[in-house]
Amino acid sequence: MASGFTLWFTGLSGAGKSTIAELVGGELERNATLVEYLDGDVVRTHLSKGLGFSREDRDTNIERIGWVASRLTRHGAAVLVSAISPYAKTRRHARQLVENEGEFVEVFVKASVEECARRDVKGLYEKAFSGELKEFTGVSDPYEEPASPELVLDTELETPQESAGRVLELLGERGLASLKVPA
Ligand code: ADP
Repeated sequence: MASGFTLWFTGLSGAGKSTIAELVGGELERNATLVEYLDGDVVRTHLSKGLGFSREDRDTNIERIGWVASRLTRHGAAVLVSAISPYAKTRRHARQLVENEGEFVEVFVKASVEECARRDVKGLYEKAFSGELKEFTGVSDPYEEPASPELVLDTELETPQESAGRVLELLGERGLASLKVPA
């Protein structure tokens, strides 16, 4: 069986991780690839219910996502992780877990705090700037930009469709995009 892979979308809240992951996932599913989505917000309502936003809790959340991603990758799935995952060290650990089982592709979904705050999809930036919401990544908590991600998507310059196209192109170059196309 061909190896699976994990696409790890990291970036600020509102940068576009989930939007792009859904577009990419839709294409992969059309290609009969087995796709699983691990969205940070969703994981926090199930697997990581009760965790907060301290460094320790954020790390625990990302460790769990990395572990589940590695298990699914092991079985040949295309795993699409959308999680802020602000700490480089923790992302590195997730990479190690996944690379034991298949490929890890780190995608930095890049947009400035100003742009994310302008979008403010979930109304969180307003609360973060007013101080109502503490420990908010990019405002009152750090985000460590990836030093050498496999791909950088600047969502202030590219449309979601263009970004998704670039991800699929990279998967194609690495021989991963058509993993599960039936013979
Ligand atoms: P995240 O998952 O990173 O928190 P979301 O995907 O939930 O972000 O939200 C990103 C928002 O930004 C969406 O409302 C999306 O429509 C909008 N957006 C605007 N331009 C882009 C772009 N080029 N790429 C991705 N999203 C974009």
